[in-house]
Amino acid sequence: MIQTLFSPLAQSTKIKTGSLARKAAPFQAQLIGWYDAHARELPWRSQPSLYKTVVSEFMLQQTQVKTVLPYFERWLNDYPDFPSLAAASEDQVLKSWEGLGYYSRARNLHKLAQILANLDSVPTQAKQWLAFPGIGPYAAAAVCSIAFDDASAVVDGNVVRILARLIADETAYKSSADAAKAYQELAGQLLNTERPGDHNQAMMELGATVCHKQNPQCLLCPVNDLCQGRAAGIESSLPRLAKTKFEKKTVDRAWIRRKGKVLLYKIPASASRMSGLHEIPSLESLQITPRSEPPLIERKRSITKYRITERFFRIDSSQLPTEPLGDAFHWISPRSIDALPFSGPHRKWISELLSEH
Ligand code: SF4
Repeated sequence: MIQTLFSPLAQSTKIKTGSLARKAAPFQAQLIGWYDAHARELPWRSQPSLYKTVVSEFMLQQTQVKTVLPYFERWLNDYPDFPSLAAASEDQVLKSWEGLGYYSRARNLHKLAQILANLDSVPTQAKQWLAFPGIGPYAAAAVCSIAFDDASAVVDGNVVRILARLIADETAYKSSADAAKAYQELAGQLLNTERPGDHNQAMMELGATVCHKQNPQCLLCPVNDLCQGRAAGIESSLPRLAKTKFEKKTVDRAWIRRKGKVLLYKIPASASRMSGLHEIPSLESLQITPRSEPPLIERKRSITKYRITERFFRIDSSQLPTEPLGDAFHWISPRSIDALPFSGPHRKWISELLSEH
């Protein structure tokens, strides 16, 4: 239960949760009526298929709809179904994903396509999908409810926000993952089991278009009469999540050109993140000592909780170690660079460095 595990406000939160759960029928009816009238037209919703659902759910993790739209259209064009995606090389897949971020999603989607393309029959229940690469409780529930009418409720940041406001839950959660676990039971109690896929999409739609983090549009909300957070005037402060602690890091990189080529590093398959992508090598990876001169360029980026300063130094190739560079290092001519997969920031930095240095 949410209350006993997570909150000193256990008793009061329990009563509120129960009262909303008892109003599941009007909640479902109001939500689905609103969704039927107001759902955005999105390419994965027209002529839906398991493939479109899976691709869209992978792309939409941590990413906004407007960012996903052009990628989704191109992806369906390049890989119209699981077999065509399964047959592509990992380099091709990463290249198609370039700029969308969180690249493990692309690798997992590729692996999933290879598995599904070889199955005689595809499992239809969320708990079975948990065994597949890249599929957590949210994706399993989303895919199986939308594609197979499996009665599994999704819980992500949007759903937590809506539910926390509906029950005026002032519990301080340590993380969004903790909050999501706590809300799984209530989300399940509220699920419209006749139309689970549409109900889940309606919750996501409500979170994305009405129950915003800041300035929720309560006057437009189809369930505002059930919202205790709004009634108490505290909706904008909910949910209460511990603030992420950011860590600062600096990475120094070597811009090395030799005979018209650039030295690049391909992140190995064993790396926990971004494997298969290319990048400008770090000084550390080349065993080059830290520099005291000003960098050619300095740029900032954020990855999860890290706020990273990336500094790029011109290094003469004579300063490379005398022993052979490992297999991950490659001299690449500028005209071949376009065909390689990079993260969005590295693609941009390389263009900048090539044009000016
Ligand atoms: S009434 Fe407002 S705060 Fe409550 S669920 Fe609707 S949009 Fe969110």
